[in-house]
Amino acid sequence: MHFETEAIRTQTERTQFQEHSTPLYLTSSYVFEDAEDMRASFAEEKERNIYSRFTNPNTSEFVEKITKMEGAEAGSAFATGMSAVFSTLAALLDSGDHIISARAVFGSTHSLFTKFFPKWNISHSYFNVNDVDKIESLIRPETKIIFAESPTNPGVELLDLEVLGKIAEKHNLILIIDNCFATPYLQNPIKFGAQLVIHSATKLIDGQGRVLGGVTVGNANLIREIYLFSRNTGPALSPFNAWVLSKSLETLPVRLDRHCENALKIAEFLEKQPNAEKVKYPFLKSHPQYEIAKKQMKAGGNIISFEIKGGLEAGRNFINAIELCSRSANLGDTRSIVTHPASTTHSKLSEEDRLEAGISVGLVRISVGLEHPDDVIADLEQALARV
Ligand SMILES: *Cc1c(COP(=O)(O)O)cnc(C)c1O
Repeated sequence: MHFETEAIRTQTERTQFQEHSTPLYLTSSYVFEDAEDMRASFAEEKERNIYSRFTNPNTSEFVEKITKMEGAEAGSAFATGMSAVFSTLAALLDSGDHIISARAVFGSTHSLFTKFFPKWNISHSYFNVNDVDKIESLIRPETKIIFAESPTNPGVELLDLEVLGKIAEKHNLILIIDNCFATPYLQNPIKFGAQLVIHSATKLIDGQGRVLGGVTVGNANLIREIYLFSRNTGPALSPFNAWVLSKSLETLPVRLDRHCENALKIAEFLEKQPNAEKVKYPFLKSHPQYEIAKKQMKAGGNIISFEIKGGLEAGRNFINAIELCSRSANLGDTRSIVTHPASTTHSKLSEEDRLEAGISVGLVRISVGLEHPDDVIADLEQALARV
């Protein structure tokens, strides 16, 4: 069936109460018929719920939807996007292993690679988004994983997923794509050779800035390892959050259509502003990787980046002049959000590291919401006039 239909009609089995909409299963554990039922359940001879750290009807429904939407074989849900990233990598990596990753990754993923994995003797090499042809030269005998996000945060640059998929296949590496910015509606990395796809469900999947969540889907054997790791270490998604997220998925296609329509309109407005430079939005013809965007994405998503003429001071002035949009670090909300990475999320990076990650001092990121785009444009226009 079609994406929209699966998003709505994938549902837990109806109970004896004949509810129309999936109820919330706030229960930590489940009961057994008898000793044999209990033995067989623990031996995994039966597929059934035992304890909500392992599975829960609400988390299973959420996982099943994302699994279908991404064209994956199986999946596992987590309390946050970061617990999905950490559990996925920790379950698959051994001491001594090596990861190759795009340099432009989410800040906490960067911290995992640089601050925490070295404690367990897991090393990494970064490649720049424009240097995909250098990836093969970074491969070592102990390399196990290629990790990337596309579009990147906050620079809104793209990686050719097909190229990454071919390199991973040729060298027998596991390609993992953090698909958070695109959502399963706009981009399906498995089609291009990814074995695993990760989402922070906190962003566009919730879409209304309410709950945290994460999910990993993909190859069934790899998911099995990840599931066993998480079942024992405990980063389970709460049933309440799973229930909220699964309901949100019912409207993902309609919400995303509008997010993308608004974002394109706002990106086109920004391109015409004299003090906004290097406006980047995947579906703008001027985007350096427009052809890649067209190949792998259904639409451009809701994130725009641009540079304010005048650097750090102008960036700060712009943020201060904003009236309607929110000054917040989140993204993928109904409310439009503006951030200035150089003075906030990426302020701890050295100038060199920041520039290598594509973040200039004047870079502004906009997460376009679902307000009327003309109101957002009016706000950006008055703020740009005051820098
Ligand atoms: C937000 C985000 C994460 C982390 O997700 P949380 O739910 O905040 O833990 C990971 N990757 C990307 C690309 C993100 O934007």
